[in-house]
Amino acid sequence: MISFLDLQAINAQYRNELITACTRVIDSGWYINGNELEQFEHDFAKYCGTKHAIGVANGLDALTLTLRAWKELGKLQDGDEIIVPSNTYIASILAISANNLIPVLVEPDITTYNICPDKIQAAITDRTKAVLPVHLYGRLADMPAIIDIAKRYNLLVLEDAAQAHGASIHGKKAGNWGDASGFSFYPGKNLGALGDAGAITTNDDELTNTLRALRNYGSHEKYKNLFQGVNSRLDEMQAAMLSVKLQHLDTEIAHRRKIAKAYIEGIDNPAIILPSQQDKNHVWHVFVIRCKQRDALQNYLAENGVQTLIHYPIPPHQQQAYKEWNNLGFPISEKIHKEVLSLPIGPTITDNQVIKIISSINNFNQVS
Ligand SMILES: *Cc1c(COP(=O)(O)O)cnc(C)c1O
Repeated sequence: MISFLDLQAINAQYRNELITACTRVIDSGWYINGNELEQFEHDFAKYCGTKHAIGVANGLDALTLTLRAWKELGKLQDGDEIIVPSNTYIASILAISANNLIPVLVEPDITTYNICPDKIQAAITDRTKAVLPVHLYGRLADMPAIIDIAKRYNLLVLEDAAQAHGASIHGKKAGNWGDASGFSFYPGKNLGALGDAGAITTNDDELTNTLRALRNYGSHEKYKNLFQGVNSRLDEMQAAMLSVKLQHLDTEIAHRRKIAKAYIEGIDNPAIILPSQQDKNHVWHVFVIRCKQRDALQNYLAENGVQTLIHYPIPPHQQQAYKEWNNLGFPISEKIHKEVLSLPIGPTITDNQVIKIISSINNFNQVS
């Protein structure tokens, strides 16, 4: 079986470097908020081209705490509307509702799967205070257009960059377009820790200070609490693992791009819709195809030794967690959720495996 993402094999490539880093942390006797975190925050900010990176416990906290910080700073208040794509992973939406803010779902463009700028404009009301674009599947949302709208309507922009480490438009990377950005380093992300971790990137000093306190019980100084904060820290061990993996991120992205190119050139089956290719800066967190007989295709590939996943099977508005939206219709999202299938594209997928996957997909018409 070709597995969708072989984390064991991915991390085995860096085994010696990871063990060295791990040993350094064990021997340091310092496990929270120390040099490893400082180093990783410095390196990751530099990678993204931002002034600051603030490590937190996971990607959901990165988004939730940024919105929370804007509330503490008086830039947002309860009941403000935040525009978010209707086909995102649920975390983007949870971050909004957890702060007593109102998620306003906006449909994506069917060719890029990213939020549609024209529809953002149509959804703006007097209560709209921010846009939360998601760089879904590793492709940057249309940030030039989104920033333009945000400027015109005086909206904050929080990028959900959890799937897009290293993606860029005109040389400007994910994490450096909005007022702030949330990243996840969940093990399966393009930059993955060996456990949970996340970060916020921003060029805003005041926001950075507030976030550094919020993640640490609302405190900069021990036993002095400015905010009713939380405990959401990126620990020294994960920071050390991430510093190792960051050095290999661009090589892994290049590998993903090579596989994507092979799929796009090799898959030639009228039943399959390939990802559109307008931009070369996609980092291919997942390689998503569409097929009307998606479930049959997934079963067929499994029978042929290829593991695939669905990102995502149920749209947020049809989840039980958001019962109040269950009667709403988001036809583009619904179509996407019914038809998408993600092919293996991880850093350890080989050329031979790609050839086998392509030929299996091209033979699919025989069973449909
Ligand atoms: C993974 C992910 C998150 C959440 O990250 P965690 O580290 O799992 O909390 C948020 N948004 C998107 C788009 C994601 O893919």
